Amino acid sequence: MNISFESKRILVTGAGQGIGRELALRLSKYNGTVIALSKTKSNLETLKQQNPRIQTIVVDVTDWEATRNAIKTILPIHMLVNNAGVACLAPFLQLTESQFDLTMNVNVKSVFNISQVVAENMIEQKCAGSIVNVSSQASHAALKDHSVYCASKGAVDMLTKTMALELGPHNIRVNSVNPTVVMTAMGKLGWEDPKKARSMLEKIPLGRFAEVDEVIDAIVYLLSDRSSMINGITLPIDGGFLAT
Ligand code: NAP
Repeated sequence: MNISFESKRILVTGAGQGIGRELALRLSKYNGTVIALSKTKSNLETLKQQNPRIQTIVVDVTDWEATRNAIKTILPIHMLVNNAGVACLAPFLQLTESQFDLTMNVNVKSVFNISQVVAENMIEQKCAGSIVNVSSQASHAALKDHSVYCASKGAVDMLTKTMALELGPHNIRVNSVNPTVVMTAMGKLGWEDPKKARSMLEKIPLGRFAEVDEVIDAIVYLLSDRSSMINGITLPIDGGFLAT
């Protein structure tokens, strides 16, 4: 794919590590202005050392007002990737209220909050936009010890569809990507144990987990004009897991 995001301002949340960090680095190759948002300052400092052209912004997305104010300082944004996420894994009967609230605040409420500010400005500026939410295969399939994570990603998928419905008439497309396990810090949390990994790998027809670049390729495609008629989809990147 020949991609150019020249003159575009692109915001990636959760860009301190994992998928978001690699995504920010990849997007910086397409000539746009990349803004990397995350919670831990030191992660963004090392990202900036890796590529000084990437702008960074430190904010905890669970803080509604601080997040809104931070986003307002970097408008306009033409492309947004809502990638920040947490996974609190526990048996359903043991999951605590604080784990529930943290998961919903980061994985769902922040997507709502940040997208609202960004999309409102896109509409004011009368500019087309593309928003990609990083969901998960866990939005469609129940995974043991993942009750609140699955619920949060189910909510992300419906938010994706409702945003696509309401923002489409303003020429703002909204889609989600739904990866299987990727061996980031989060992936290792749930699937580093070989026994658990095997049980998941056996259900993936391609017989392996996803690579970070395979998720990034799909996000870049959905951000770009190459997907100009695609709006409201939840795209599995799962080697066929959800097909079985
Ligand atoms: P990760 O390596 O744990 O990175 C998560 C990123 O989100 C970090 O940069 C973290 O910030 C940021 N973040 C978390 N809480 C935040 C908060 N309150 N405010 C601001 N930023 C916050 O996870 P990942 O594997 O790259 O996951 C990225 C996305 O992919 C998530 O939405 C996840 O649910 C989804 N996903 C992951 C997998 C997988 O197996 N890895 C599979 C499907 C979907 P810091 O750098 O400051 O810690």
